[in-house]
Amino acid sequence: CGIVGVLGQHEVAPILVDALRRLEYRGYDSAGIATVNNGKLARRRAVGKLVNLSDLLVHDPLPGKSGIGHTRWATHGAPTTDNAHPHRAGDVAVVHNGIIENYKALRAELAEAGIEPQTETDTETIALLTQHLLSQGKTPVEAAYATLERLDGAFALAFLFDGEEDLMIAARKGSPLAIGHGDDEMYVGSDAFALAPMTDQITYLEEGDSAVLTRTSVEIRDEAGRLVNREKKTIQVDA
Ligand code: GLU
Repeated sequence: CGIVGVLGQHEVAPILVDALRRLEYRGYDSAGIATVNNGKLARRRAVGKLVNLSDLLVHDPLPGKSGIGHTRWATHGAPTTDNAHPHRAGDVAVVHNGIIENYKALRAELAEAGIEPQTETDTETIALLTQHLLSQGKTPVEAAYATLERLDGAFALAFLFDGEEDLMIAARKGSPLAIGHGDDEMYVGSDAFALAPMTDQITYLEEGDSAVLTRTSVEIRDEAGRLVNREKKTIQVDA
């Protein structure tokens, strides 16, 4: 299971699929990507090997230069297309590795607001909660951060938003996540190997960290919400 995200200068779908291929060694049962193109968020998902996703993208391309991708190892909900990531609710798409321990409690809260899940996953709850907060007038950054505060469990996460082509939010707690720095491009990945074709400039998020990314900026906060500096390293991996 793996995560990748790109705020780029080029068509991102093939780049995302290539990066997911570099995460295949972790094992997975389904895969998917989401992009924002001309402000519009859209996604494609497929069960099985990555070739099923890339075949789908041949017949039903997903344009855009900003995107997130995921290989799933199902923990909550069968490995079906509906349960594959990215999960979307309204204006937000989320990819997630790990387990949200309190998703049932969050589901119950959302149900009181009339919001019902469409999938069997713990992950969808993250998207539903974020969208609920967006609909109450929070900005994407505010909504994602308010959601993160509510999550118990282990996760690596990336958020992408409709109408926001230069924004990605990432967080890690119990699952590794790296940020890659490019030339007016920014990346996230489960490991530096996934990002190796794009960059060797890597910042590792520490436990509990979150990050707000644009093509030209990274703001990292620690678990207490304080802005922190995390070292940017030049790493050596075999591209
Ligand atoms: N718990 C999530 C799910 O089952 C994420 C699994 C993963 O880490 O790939 O959908």
